[in-house]
Amino acid sequence: MDFDTDYSMTIGGKAVAGAGTFDVLNPANEQVIAQAPDCSREQLDEAVAAARAAFPAWSATPIAERRKAVLALAGAIAANAEGLKRLLTREQGKPHADAMNDVLGGAGWLQGASTLDLPETVNEDTDVRRSITRHVPIGVVGAIAPWNFPVILAMFKVAPALMAGNTIVLKPSPFTPLTTLKIGELAREILPPGVLNVVSGGDSLGPWMTSHPGIDKISFTGSTQTGRKVMASAADSLKRITLELGGNDAAIVMPDVDVEKVAEQLFWAAFRNTGQICIASKRMYVHKDIYEPLKKAIADYAATVKMGDGAEQGTQLGPIQNKQQYQRVLELIADAKANGYPFLIGGEASTAPGYFVPITILDNPPENARIVQEEQFGPVLPLLKVDSIEEALERANASEYGLGGSVWSSDIDAALAVGERLQTGTVWINETQHLSPLVSFAGHKQSGLGVENGIDGLLEYTNTQTIVVRKG
Ligand code: NAD
Repeated sequence: MDFDTDYSMTIGGKAVAGAGTFDVLNPANEQVIAQAPDCSREQLDEAVAAARAAFPAWSATPIAERRKAVLALAGAIAANAEGLKRLLTREQGKPHADAMNDVLGGAGWLQGASTLDLPETVNEDTDVRRSITRHVPIGVVGAIAPWNFPVILAMFKVAPALMAGNTIVLKPSPFTPLTTLKIGELAREILPPGVLNVVSGGDSLGPWMTSHPGIDKISFTGSTQTGRKVMASAADSLKRITLELGGNDAAIVMPDVDVEKVAEQLFWAAFRNTGQICIASKRMYVHKDIYEPLKKAIADYAATVKMGDGAEQGTQLGPIQNKQQYQRVLELIADAKANGYPFLIGGEASTAPGYFVPITILDNPPENARIVQEEQFGPVLPLLKVDSIEEALERANASEYGLGGSVWSSDIDAALAVGERLQTGTVWINETQHLSPLVSFAGHKQSGLGVENGIDGLLEYTNTQTIVVRKG
């Protein structure tokens, strides 16, 4: 497969050129690297029609056969990982090693989800009656993915949707469409035509999908702001929805940690993928007894980390992925400066081409600072000093978000007691960001609706059906 040219949509198992094209940039140098197909409304109709036409046969295919197809797609992605990785770095900006994790993670998600089975419950089995509850596929799923982990987050949706017997129209972010289009190309050889359609386009394509009468469910990962629009638009036709949205995860650092040891872990909890992770630690509440030494240890470690073009060897952090996000991060930094909040390191954007913001850490800004209250989604972290862990919990929970959070301590029981009081969908003790295709992942409050991954995630791609048989 040629990964450098020839980007086409996949509709009904065929390569389809866009009605027009749009530019895709490399965020490390702002150069245009490709033209992506721009899907017209008519082409979206064709993709939905192809998915609807494929649904009866695919939903009737035994799950064992669907499992084989999902595994074959995982195998094809893994076999092409090298080319996909390079392409992903060029369009997304992340270092090659991280791009490889995204690609192989996507393959791993398909593999992991392929081991799941749809549960069936026998409610009653007596001489009078037999009643069972089972789970049937919904129909056509519209899957909408963001730009921070284009492959793995798309596979969060594709894997369970296929396993449950649905057909799909998948839309990557317009900032990172290329790798996903190539995965669509790989799927043409594996899945029956129309089972997985991949379309790319501009800002109208998402709203066309969420309001499309031929789409039965929307699975969306992106910002809370867009999630609200998706929900409103899906309401008209009562589409099923799963929303994985923004987060403002707190890390609570207890006074008994080994400061030198956790400094590096806490750094990566906040800055991996240049901070562009829904479950990155975005606020760090550190007990006053260790605040000064931990602050120094994190700053010292940060000074050793190399930021640059993800395609260059040794790069550990890439640029911010797109101009819009770059400007948002700069605006939060400007707001912190205007308010006179102290910076530990960073704060000045580079003048070289590329959307680079250096690692920026604020030294105990007030709780009501925008940079604390809002999701930064960039290489920016406020360190916050607390007098007690009780205070940390209170401040951590006083957020409209509820995606994840972490507690750090050398006493696991003590950390657990704190963690259980966090109002978030996932709580980690002494690590962050560990997810699995077999484990439920859900956002509380404004961080989402529904569940991804695990059996709970699989069931989101089904309708519940109870069958009652009267005997005799
Ligand atoms: P975004 O909301 O701007 O876009 C996400 C996707 O939605 C893109 O494909 C976009 O084209 C599409 N879209 C935009 N407007 C739409 C509309 N009106 N209707 C339908 N679709 C529309 O998000 P982003 O900037 O790509 O991603 C960053 C955000 O995603 C952050 O807030 C981050 O926390 C969140 N995120 C959440 C998770 C999670 O699992 N909870 C994972 C990754 C990212």
